[in-house]
Amino acid sequence: MNEETVVRTAVPRLVVTQDNEFWFRAAREGRLEIQRCADCHVLRHPPAPVCPECRSFDWDTVESSRRCTLHSYTVLHYPRDDAFDYPLTVGLVDLEEGIRLVADIAGVDRDELEFGMELEVGFTEHAHGEILPQLRRPRGSRS
Ligand SMILES: [Zn+2]
Repeated sequence: MNEETVVRTAVPRLVVTQDNEFWFRAAREGRLEIQRCADCHVLRHPPAPVCPECRSFDWDTVESSRRCTLHSYTVLHYPRDDAFDYPLTVGLVDLEEGIRLVADIAGVDRDELEFGMELEVGFTEHAHGEILPQLRRPRGSRS
């Protein structure tokens, strides 16, 4: 997004902390990273400072394959914000690694959506120039 672009959006800016900065940095580089407890190795998303399983503060990350299946979705019509196209389809997916992620779905007609269908996490520029996940058909799939 160039500096002359005027964004009229009610979407709040990201709150980047030392616990989630890795995630946004990876997204800018086209990678989906998942936080992993360094002690019990349970994955968690969204990023958080403490493991919900063992209360450890130690963590590292693993890179997701970005392959996922559609668990649920909703179609938003209102309220409208200039940062999105409407109707806006938002999906909840099960990542191959076993955690869930919420993101908007692009390039799939609403009447083609089926629970369990294969999708892939890509990335797109969002309201304030951030790079965030967006769900799409897997590369190499038909139609
Ligand atoms: Zn743990």
